[in-house]
Amino acid sequence: MRYDIRDQLIKRDSQVTLEFDALAPPGTDVEFVGNVTGQITLQNVGGELAVWGRLRAVAVAECGRCLREHAVPLEFEFSETCKFAQIDEPLSYTQVTDEDEPAPIPVLDGDAIDLSELVRQLLVLHLPARSLCRPDCRGICASCGADLNETTCACGSEEIDPRLAPLHELLR
Ligand SMILES: [Zn+2]
Ligand SMILES: [Zn+2]
Repeated sequence: MRYDIRDQLIKRDSQVTLEFDALAPPGTDVEFVGNVTGQITLQNVGGELAVWGRLRAVAVAECGRCLREHAVPLEFEFSETCKFAQIDEPLSYTQVTDEDEPAPIPVLDGDAIDLSELVRQLLVLHLPARSLCRPDCRGICASCGADLNETTCACGSEEIDPRLAPLHELLR
């Protein structure tokens, strides 16, 4: 995810648009199917970079009801502020002055523009906290553990979030 475009962005108001097509960067804690694709535009707005565009990716998530792994397509538009700072410079992540204002994201790896930290943050931001393998997933029976998508059981319990099942057992 390194691009030799720093020279094209040196002047104020200069702008570069990239077709993005690369593996998801490490550090998202999630697996992705195939590449992250889309379009990213960077513009020098004086000291900082305005960066915007649209990205697509397919994440692999566990179903919130039955825990089955399933593909979750993501597609989103974004607008972020980045800065000419080295990605591996630890200080570049901690200079948050205002809690409501997210810190500009560093985009330099040596002399090249590296968009991996930007894309990593965007993917993490847009992953759903909970997703279902299908809208009508019936989940797992909290009493006997049967996958109610494949079978019915005699317990007749209501649907319970499997992560809450141990608590449910305690309350019985
Ligand atoms: Zn499910
Ligand atoms: Zn059951």
